[in-house]
Order: sequence, then C-alpha cells, then structure tokens
Amino acid sequence: MSMDFVLSLFSVLFGLCLGSFANVCIYRIPQNKSIVHPGSSCPHCGAGIPFYDNIPVISYLVLRGRCRRCGASISLRYPLVEMLMGLLSLALFIKFGFHLQYLLFMLFSGTLLILGFIDFDHKILPDVLTLPGILAGWLVSFFPGGISWVDSLIGLAAGGGSLYLVAAVYERITGREGLGGGDIKLLAMIGAWLGWMSLPLIVLMSSLSGAVIGSAFILSGGRGARTQIPFGPFLSMGALAYLFFGREISLWYFDLFT
Ligand SMILES: [Zn+2]
Repeated sequence: MSMDFVLSLFSVLFGLCLGSFANVCIYRIPQNKSIVHPGSSCPHCGAGIPFYDNIPVISYLVLRGRCRRCGASISLRYPLVEMLMGLLSLALFIKFGFHLQYLLFMLFSGTLLILGFIDFDHKILPDVLTLPGILAGWLVSFFPGGISWVDSLIGLAAGGGSLYLVAAVYERITGREGLGGGDIKLLAMIGAWLGWMSLPLIVLMSSLSGAVIGSAFILSGGRGARTQIPFGPFLSMGALAYLFFGREISLWYFDLFT
C-alpha cells in the first residue's frame, strides 16, 4: 500500500470521527448545552451510548438505525453528517496534502457544516460559532500559504457589510426581516477565511440555489410560502463549493462572457 493511500484513509477516518463530534454540536449548541459533557445518550430513553455503539456510520449499520435499549429509531442524519465530514476531510486532504492548511480548513468546513445544519433545524446561526469563526479566519490569514491578512480583513468587512446593506434595504422596502444578523456574521466569517475575491461568486451561487430550492418549496404547496427558508445552509454550501471549485467555476463563468 502506498503512503498516500494510507494517509487518505486516515483522513477519511479522522473526518468520520469529527463528524460524530459535529453531530453533538448540531444537537447541543442550539440548546446551550455543553458539547463535551456528559457523553452521548439516546434522545428517546436517555440511556448512555457506550463507545462500541458510537462508532461513526458502522454502529448505525450494526444497530440498524435503532437504539440498543429502547429500539427508538436513530435519525439517518447522524451517519449522513459523519459521511459528509469524512468526504470533506478526504477532499481537503487531496487539496492541501499533509499540511497545516488541511487542519485549518477542516476547522472552517466543519464549522460551515455545523452552522448549515443548525440553521436548517432552528433558523439560527449561533454567535458562539460565527464570532470566533470570524476571528479565526483573520488570524489564519497570517499563516503563509493562504490569502493575505488584508484580503481577509476586506473580505470580513465586505461580507458583513454587503449583507447588512441588503438586509437594511429589504427591511425598509418590505417592513419584514428577510435576512437575520446571523447571515451577516456568517458571510463575514466566509469573507475572512476565503478573502473578498470569493464573495461575488459565493453570494451568486447561494442566492441562485436558495431561489431555486425556495421556489420549488413554494410550488410544491402550502408550507413553503409562509415558512421562512433559512439562508445559512446555502451560504455554507456556496462557501464549500468555492473552496473546492472556485477557480474552475470562475473560469467557466468568465468564459460565458468572453
Ligand atoms: Zn433509547
């Protein structure tokens, strides 16, 4: 077996374990519960989950998606989040290799994933994630090999500022709040990590995908029309798409017009 293969495999396993932790964050942070203590328990019967029933993806398959004690079904979301993190970890490893940037962008992608799911569930983007995320993005820009701290700082200000403007104008015109403060802080965080250059494409991709999914939701009947559709998951997906395919998408986009 080649070294690259072994390291890639490790990156997947590392991602799966972080995905397990991401599940804890998605579940507990909106409830203001500690993410380290106590250990995992079944939300239905409260029984503690021993380590051998808490192995990412595998345990879900072994237990056939049910709690060992009470038989309550475990949401498919848990193994899904674990697999997504495993996949993200592998993709970042392929992109950055065995390098500090890999770990740093693991932190960024993991936070985006957690924020996306929390916003999807509760329509909130907790400050405990976005505010440290903004600061971390700016500090990381001082490490060599990424964007400059100036590009990061402009990204932070432009990301927050542009959405703040959109939100203020929308509210002035419609008298309703369309974008929350959380969206503003999330785009500031994205700008701090990926630089101001990333923002036009990310905002374009998130708005388009948000509009398409939103219209589908409304057309499919009832609920969507009045339910506010959270923007956070689309911003998170846009940022991840840019992180991995930004260059390709930009080139393709400019090709359309030249
Ligand atoms: Zn149970």
